[in-house]
Amino acid sequence: MIDLTALASRLPEGALISDADRMEKYRRDRANDPNAGVPLAVIRVESAQDVQTVVRFAAEHSLPIITRGAGSSLSGGSTAIDGCLVLSTERMTAIEVDPRTRTAVVQPGAMNADVKAAAAAHDLWYPPDPSSFEFCSIGGNLATNAGGLCCVKYGVTTDYVLGVDVVTADGELVELGGPRLKDVAGLPLTKLFVGSEGTLGIITRGVLRLIPAQRPAATLVATFAQLADACQTVQDITRGMRPSMLEFMDQVCINAVEDETAMELDRSAAAMLIIQSDEPGTHAGAEIDQIRIICEKNSATEVYATDDADEGEAFVQARRIAIPSVERKGAVLLEDVGVPIPQLGDLVLGIDAIARNRDVTVAVMAHAGDGNTHPLIVFDPADAEQLERAELAYGEIMDLAIELGGTITGEHGVGRLKQPWLKDYLSPQALALNQKIKDALDPQGILNPGVVFN
Ligand SMILES: Cc1cc2nc3c(=O)[nH]c(=O)nc-3n(C[C@H](O)[C@H](O)[C@H](O)COP(=O)(O)OP(=O)(O)OC[C@H]3O[C@@H](n4cnc5c(N)ncnc54)[C@H](O)[C@@H]3O)c2cc1C
Repeated sequence: MIDLTALASRLPEGALISDADRMEKYRRDRANDPNAGVPLAVIRVESAQDVQTVVRFAAEHSLPIITRGAGSSLSGGSTAIDGCLVLSTERMTAIEVDPRTRTAVVQPGAMNADVKAAAAAHDLWYPPDPSSFEFCSIGGNLATNAGGLCCVKYGVTTDYVLGVDVVTADGELVELGGPRLKDVAGLPLTKLFVGSEGTLGIITRGVLRLIPAQRPAATLVATFAQLADACQTVQDITRGMRPSMLEFMDQVCINAVEDETAMELDRSAAAMLIIQSDEPGTHAGAEIDQIRIICEKNSATEVYATDDADEGEAFVQARRIAIPSVERKGAVLLEDVGVPIPQLGDLVLGIDAIARNRDVTVAVMAHAGDGNTHPLIVFDPADAEQLERAELAYGEIMDLAIELGGTITGEHGVGRLKQPWLKDYLSPQALALNQKIKDALDPQGILNPGVVFN
């Protein structure tokens, strides 16, 4: 029997909770795993020193630690397992912006939206913008190397991480990097922890790069009767231009969003693209004009452009709410497969064929300019036979992405849900190297067991 009072006494008053009712909300993330475990305790740390205390206690008692930011993971990365300690960063929310170095020093529990707001107060911008930006933490973003809507032009989370502090599995606090734009001293360990999904260490602080505030964007929305035409348009645009957003929704998504918003989206369209340009001055309009020509050449059924910021934002918001809108239609299995841009059409059409063949509904939305799609397989959890078909389709979509030279996850992480497919994607040599690094940094395997590594 493990004496939690010894641990609680070394932590701030009320940091540790262990009654079942209060722990319930920390068991699941947005992947909604029905098999989520029951933690031994949830610890709401307030400092890096608290994290060290928890990790040392866990190491001494060989207890698994599941690190949790805001719990918006779609891959089961922050799902509890039986007998674990859930380490919640929700109380570590400090943000300090230094406009001179154009950096923000941020504790892991701060929300992405709050970092953006703190930067905006200095006329600066933290670009990474997952659709979940209002309800996901910076720690979770760093741990998953989160992407988002503006990544097509501005890159992903790792492009904005100059340093991290991490508590490793032996309880040491290690400071890596800092507010320096160039620094090649030693191995690039900061980048090793970005995207490591809580399996190598616990991030207690990030030093983030900020850039000047984004210019107002012009927006173009185009609909297509054929999926292939929409995908060809993406390819033609990305060959010569860098729009600041290039998003895709298929018919199932359009209809799910229209059910929520009644904004008069074309329910009959096979696909819709939402595209923005934030080029300076009249260049944004010129870029949008060129994009319009490409859309029309590829048989767009309707093209609508606006430089009204609010109107543009309404379309972006429609794309942001696509996942929750589809989630209202049933239970979902959510994928995150990505391919090189020239294969985007084969992926989207292949997913359509899998959906028909397995007789399941699949809604596809995509950060199309990155080749990163989110097929959502919608099913009725009470229908066992339908669930079985949905699970088969889930595997087939990942197999298809791999066949097309793509990845099983572009931004959500392997987590628990995609762990069984990692061996199909990585070469045996790459898999062995991953395992060597894991074994070296976490020899007891206490950090997020079952995530990425089985
Ligand atoms: C509607 C919706 C839309 C989304 N859109 C996007 C999108 O556009 N792009 C995108 O990339 N993701 C998206 N996501 C997924 C999710 O929001 C991201 O993966 C996000 O980065 C997770 O942050 P979190 O704070 O919720 O992390 P959590 O769910 O709490 O954790 C995620 C992973 O990070 C680890 N972790 C958390 N904090 C730390 C830490 N301090 N140190 C070490 N490990 C840690 C956890 O153990 C877990 O493995 C979306 C999710 C939803 C529900």
